[in-house]
Amino acid sequence: MRKIQIAIDGPASSGKSTVAKLVAKELGYTYLDTGAMYRCVTLLALENNWSDNDLALILEGIDRHKIRFETSEDGGQLVFLEDRDVTHRIRENDVTNNVSWVSAFAEVRQKLVEQQQEIAAEGGIIMDGRDIGTVVLPNAELKIFLVASVEERADRRYKENMAKGIPVDLETLKQEIADRDYKDSTREASPLKAAEDAVVFDTTGVAISGVVEFISEKVSEILDNGHCLC
Ligand code: C5P
Repeated sequence: MRKIQIAIDGPASSGKSTVAKLVAKELGYTYLDTGAMYRCVTLLALENNWSDNDLALILEGIDRHKIRFETSEDGGQLVFLEDRDVTHRIRENDVTNNVSWVSAFAEVRQKLVEQQQEIAAEGGIIMDGRDIGTVVLPNAELKIFLVASVEERADRRYKENMAKGIPVDLETLKQEIADRDYKDSTREASPLKAAEDAVVFDTTGVAISGVVEFISEKVSEILDNGHCLC
């Protein structure tokens, strides 16, 4: 069956990765979590005490450290920086709260976007991030922009973190999510925004299964009719 490219963008904790992983599994597509790539570069910067004055070192760091993805035994996705499993480390607060300044560099983005486009060239792909529909996969057949209220997104992240044993305060989380959205959407290089041809879907109060179903329907429309009846 013909395979298409699916771009899923949206603000922090809008459910992009959960939904994208499920759709990828259903369709047998490759899932690429581009946020994990920016998080890996941020981890490199933090561990080397690089600041926003050290762009050259950060770019060299990207060239010297391969970011890889593997599937775990239970079907989850593992993230590796060279041979180190950083799947959990890149979700910790220090990385989350520094990723926006690292991802604001156009030069950092250029290097990661190149890697993302190489992976996409291999076949059926569903990718999530902030600039997938606008920059990484501008010709994607299906572009979805997921939104949800800050309250609901903070609540989801709170539950996720608690389940992983990462202690957090709900109000702090709300503030951090709003700050990160602001920085991601007001930066000059590839800001967070919906592509003109994206379908905007508000997931507030919608179960994950409902979002997956919505996307799967859109994929079927494209495969059956050659275009989305969006
Ligand atoms: O998706 P996630 O929350 O893991 O993304 C972490 C951060 O990486 C975002 O807040 C944003 O700064 C950056 N990012 C980006 N472009 C992408 C994906 C993520 O700038 N395509």
